[in-house]
Amino acid sequence: MDAVVTVAVRLVNALTAGEAHGRPYAPPEGGARPAAVTAALRAGRRDTREVSPDEAAEFVGVAEGLRAVFDAMAAGRPDAAARLVNDMLAATGARPHLDRHDGEPWHLHFHGVEDSPVTGWAAGCATGLAVVLGSDLQGRLGVCTAPRCDRVFVDTSRNATRRFCSTSCQNRVKTAAFRAAHRGCVSPRPIGDDPPSNVHSGASSANTDQPKNSSASA
Ligand SMILES: [Zn+2]
Repeated sequence: MDAVVTVAVRLVNALTAGEAHGRPYAPPEGGARPAAVTAALRAGRRDTREVSPDEAAEFVGVAEGLRAVFDAMAAGRPDAAARLVNDMLAATGARPHLDRHDGEPWHLHFHGVEDSPVTGWAAGCATGLAVVLGSDLQGRLGVCTAPRCDRVFVDTSRNATRRFCSTSCQNRVKTAAFRAAHRGCVSPRPIGDDPPSNVHSGASSANTDQPKNSSASA
C-alpha cells in the first residue's frame, strides 16, 4: 500500500504546476514528460515499463485529480477529500487483486475497468489514498507549508509532525526564522563594553569629515 501512496505523491509533485522549494514549478513537457512519469511509477514498482508520450499526457489528469485530495486535506476539508477519492475509485473501477508472478510473493495489484496502465495506476493511487483517509493516518497527507512551495507529501514520521515536502524546504524555513530572530537585535556584533550602537552611530555622524582610522594614523 505504501508503494501506491508514494507513487501518488511523486505523480503530483512531478506533473502539477505551482511552486517548488521557493521557485515557480512548471511540469516537464515533450520528451521529458514520459521520463518523469516513468520515474514516479518506478518509485512504487521498480519493474514498471517506460510509459509512452500519450500515456504520460494522460497521467497529467490523474495527478491533478490526486492533488485535489491533498489540497482538500491541507485545507481541513476531509469530507471533500473523501468525496474526491470516492469519485476516483468509481471512475477508475478500482478493483484490488492479489497477484503472484515472476517468483515474487503474493502482492496486491489494482486493476481498473479497462486494462490500461494509466487507469490501473489511477485506481491504485486512489485506493492508496482511500486507505490512508479511512484510517487514523488521515492527517498525514500534507502540502508543504514553506513559503513558495506547494509540493505534497505523506508524513511517515513517528510523531506525525512533518510540515515540509523536503529537507530543502525545512532548511529554508529554519534559515529565514534564524535571520528574522537576529534582525531585531540592536547591535549585530555586541563586543565587550562597547557603548550601545545608537550612541555610537550618533557620535560618528557628528564626525563625518574625520576618517575612521585617523586616531590610528596620528
Ligand atoms: Zn516544500
